[in-house]
Amino acid sequence: MNVPFVWLNHRLVPTSDARCSFFAHGLHYGTGVFEGIRAYATEEGPAIFRLDDHLARMARGAEVLGMDLDLASLRLGCLKVLAASGLQDAYLRPLATFHLGGLALDTSLCDVQVMVAALPWQNHLGEGTEGISMRTSPLRRNAARAIPALKLCGGYVNAILAKREAMARGFAEALFVDEQGFVVEATGENLFLVKHGRVVAVDHPDALPGITRATLAQLAGAEVRPVTLEELCDADELFVTGTSAEVTPVTRLDGGSWAPGPVTQDLRAAYLDLVHGRSPAYESWLTRVEAPIAV
Ligand code: PMP
Repeated sequence: MNVPFVWLNHRLVPTSDARCSFFAHGLHYGTGVFEGIRAYATEEGPAIFRLDDHLARMARGAEVLGMDLDLASLRLGCLKVLAASGLQDAYLRPLATFHLGGLALDTSLCDVQVMVAALPWQNHLGEGTEGISMRTSPLRRNAARAIPALKLCGGYVNAILAKREAMARGFAEALFVDEQGFVVEATGENLFLVKHGRVVAVDHPDALPGITRATLAQLAGAEVRPVTLEELCDADELFVTGTSAEVTPVTRLDGGSWAPGPVTQDLRAAYLDLVHGRSPAYESWLTRVEAPIAV
C-alpha cells in the first residue's frame, strides 16, 4: 500500500517513521477506537462526507474507553493527511489506541497514540452495483451490553470471525441474527429492506449506528424499526449500507435470491450524487479540503 505520510500524535510524518511498540496495549487487547470515513472528488475538490458525525462517534468510543481524545486536533489531522495524500477519492482511517503503560488490564497509566491515514479506496464488497451474497451467521453479534456498539477495535474480532465463516462457505458477507430471530447487522454494514415500495431500515441495539444508514433513512424517508429474519427474507429488495459499502444490493441470502431492485438503484444513485457534491440541499454534510492547507 503506497501511503507516503500518516498523521501521528498531532503531526504528519513519513509512514516509515510511524512505529508502534511490541508493548502497545492496543496491540494486545484491542483497546482502541477507530473510524472509517470517505472523501470524494467533487467539482470543487475533495470533500469529506459527514466528518463531524464520524468524529463524534469516535469520541463516544474514546469516552467508553476512558481515553482522552483531542477532537479538534484529530479533525485537523484528517484534513491535513488528506491534503498531503493528493487523493481526491480516499478512505480516512483515524485510530486512537492505548499505547505504553504496561500490559495490565488497568489502562489508567497508558498513553494514547492517535493516527490518521488517507488511503486510496474502493468499495470492499466490489463495485457495488452487482449485489453481494450473504449467509446467516452461526455466530452471535457482540451484545451492546458486553461491548458497546461503537467502533472499538477489539469488538471487530467478532465480525472477523463471522466474515471468515461466511467466506469459507462461498458467501461474501455474514448476517448477524439474534437469539429471538431479529436481524442485527452484517459484519461491516447495516441492513435495509424494501417491501411494496416502502423502505425499512433495520434497527437493533447491538448494531453499529451507521452514518450511511442514517443518511439513507433520511433520503428514503425510511421506517426505522426491528425486523425479523423472516420479514427480511420476504422483502422485495435488500441492500446494505456503510461508508465503504455505500449502498450495495444483496442478491443472495442463504437459499434465497433477489435482483438488484429499482428502489435500491435509485437510492444508490441519490447517495452517490450527495457524496459527490451534486445535491445542494446536503452541502452541510461535506467538509471541503480547502487548498492550500499547510502541511
Ligand atoms: N456496522 C459495522 C459493524 C460497521 O463496521 C460499519 C462500518 N463503519 C457499519 C455498520 C456501517 O457504518 P457507517 O455507515 O457509519 O460506515
